[in-house]
Amino acid sequence: MDTQVIIVGAGPVGLTLALDLGLRGVRCILLEKKLEPQFLPKMERCNARSMEMFRRIGLADELRAAGLTTDSVMDVYIILTMTRAPLLHLKYPSVDMAREQIRKINDGSTPLEPYQLISQYTLEPVLKQAAERIPTVTVRYGTELMEFEEDGPSVVATVRSSDGRSRKIRAAYLVGCDGGSSSVRRQLGIPLRGEANLAKFRQGLYRCDELYDRLPLGEGPGRGRHYLVADEWATFLIMQDSKRHWTLHAAVEWRMASEPPPGRSLPSWARISGRRCRTPGHSRRGSWHEHRCR
Ligand SMILES: Cc1cc2nc3c(=O)[nH]c(=O)nc-3n(C[C@H](O)[C@H](O)[C@H](O)COP(=O)(O)OP(=O)(O)OC[C@H]3O[C@@H](n4cnc5c(N)ncnc54)[C@H](O)[C@@H]3O)c2cc1C
Repeated sequence: MDTQVIIVGAGPVGLTLALDLGLRGVRCILLEKKLEPQFLPKMERCNARSMEMFRRIGLADELRAAGLTTDSVMDVYIILTMTRAPLLHLKYPSVDMAREQIRKINDGSTPLEPYQLISQYTLEPVLKQAAERIPTVTVRYGTELMEFEEDGPSVVATVRSSDGRSRKIRAAYLVGCDGGSSSVRRQLGIPLRGEANLAKFRQGLYRCDELYDRLPLGEGPGRGRHYLVADEWATFLIMQDSKRHWTLHAAVEWRMASEPPPGRSLPSWARISGRRCRTPGHSRRGSWHEHRCR
């Protein structure tokens, strides 16, 4: 055997599994086809259960220090535009407030750790560095799983590295942590439950230093983490973990009950970001690298 466990995919799940197994002394190889951690974030919130797991592996404090400050307002707004009063304002406690609530209730019904807002582009490098510190864990970016087969008590994976070379790795187990469209899941014939590909969204990540403090919602400033635009195209704006970086998401293809009426087409993403959402500030193209968005 080359190792005990092959983990396919170094997203938050694969990295966390590598840490958990590694700290238990299990030898594992973590494969990731990307050359480096994720730049464009999907997730930006770790829920309470995730933070409890990170606490168990000794990373909760490090992740909180890297993530959004614990006194930040986490409210959610349902809006028509960013310059009018919100249709709905949903209040959510900051981490500090959630901690205070947890402290007061000691009947086992509250989590040990509150949630933490930390963007995928911050989380993955922290987890990667922690995994690389464990001697039983080998982390290989730029390495893609191509196929795998069972061979008696072992599984043999064929992997290809970014220089085009292929090799085989033999292990006792292979775990698919390769995301929603997992090729491991497909090869094993495991169906996806529920409906997939309901809509296609386009996402932009941009920096605006003053947006959080100056959002002119109603009387303003409408400080919060999520702004959901009540339009047919499910536009939403999400604050990332520095209060200066935001992702704007908008549907570019839609196949739910509310298909565009005949003769109408989806507005272009540029129009959504520029006019429908009315985001204040300016935008500029630039090149960023992961974990440098702060
Ligand atoms: C817009 C958006 C916002 C979201 N927000 C949240 C949130 O706030 N909180 C939350 O918990 N979840 C959120 N989610 C869900 C989120 O995507 C997941 O929680 C998180 O990304 C799951 O991590 P993962 O490791 O399972 O998968 P992924 O993050 O998809 O990582 C899978 C990894 O596997 C790699 N991979 C795939 N195939 C191979 C292969 N053959 N060989 C090698 N590597 C491979 C990929 O490159 C990737 O790095 C959000 C999703 C979206 C789309």
